[in-house]
Amino acid sequence: MTTPYQKEKEIAVAAIAQAAVICKNVQTQIDLGVLEKNDKSPVTVADFGSQALVCKMLNETFAADPVIGEEDSKSLRQPENEGLLTRLMNEVQQVLPEASPEQVLGWIDKGGQDSYTERFWTLDPIDGTKGFLRKDQYAISLALIVNGEIVVGALCCPNMNAQDGTEGVIFAAEKGQGAVEIPLGKNTATPISVSRENVQANIRTCESVEKAHSSHSDSARIAQLLGITADPVRIDSQAKYATVARGDAEAYLRLPRDGKYREKIWDHAGGVLVVEEAGGKVTDIKGRPLEFTHGRTLQNNLGVIVTSGTFHDAVIKAIDELNIGKF
Ligand code: AMP
Ligand code: MG
Repeated sequence: MTTPYQKEKEIAVAAIAQAAVICKNVQTQIDLGVLEKNDKSPVTVADFGSQALVCKMLNETFAADPVIGEEDSKSLRQPENEGLLTRLMNEVQQVLPEASPEQVLGWIDKGGQDSYTERFWTLDPIDGTKGFLRKDQYAISLALIVNGEIVVGALCCPNMNAQDGTEGVIFAAEKGQGAVEIPLGKNTATPISVSRENVQANIRTCESVEKAHSSHSDSARIAQLLGITADPVRIDSQAKYATVARGDAEAYLRLPRDGKYREKIWDHAGGVLVVEEAGGKVTDIKGRPLEFTHGRTLQNNLGVIVTSGTFHDAVIKAIDELNIGKF
């Protein structure tokens, strides 16, 4: 039996798996001991490489589909960044020996869409750049949105273990068809589902490592009000969505630090469908559905709350009672 977006899901999975090859190669070159605080070049090379490979693959099968990606090639085309382009080409050519610089720049720019259309992809070539630089968690996130609805979501978490122990795992979902995990480099898809925990005190939460991205103090207040006993687990990137989707935590809280920041669609779209198809729930902190119809940002939303479902209303109510997000 074929499903409506089976082909799209297969291509998405293949594309992020190929992008992971570049990300992993570049990450092995990072020497944590000598990495200067401001040297972002490894993540830049991997970011551009990942976007190039994913967009190339989407373009081969779905040439008409726009892609709202995080990167564009403007800076790479500047003469002072020739060194960066050379490093990028070295990495890309390990995967695609025939690729030329013009092709690579063109593939990156395929991800340059910024306004909403009826059907488009959104891509975060490396989500969790700080985690990537620390050799910790990061994700490649890709989603297809049709008429404002996420219909395919795919996440690759190269530093997360699959349930069979494989290092690296892909999470994939198609609307209405459930969510699976696929060990990186294998062909076996295992269905995943959220936790069935129903005792509020036992909720396990996760949140950003970066406190600039989500208020750690507000999450502590929520935990206290709900009687949650375990400390939050801090994880970079959309690996947090994967953690809730496969039942390793009951909630992921992303609590705004101010009323101005708007979440980027590529930081969420892939993860949202994986969690929903695994049986969980995703809204903003006011309990509103996330709206993927405003271009690059979640313009009408504030923060993000991801849960296994059971405790969703309780978390939203706690946020309201604590006046979180009322700036
Ligand atoms: P995480 O690894 O969950 O902390 O999320 C990483 C993402 O946070 C990046 O891809 C950024 O797009 C996003 N980000 C940057 N600044 C902020 C902010 N002030 N609030 C929330 N997210 C942010
Ligand atoms: Mg990101």
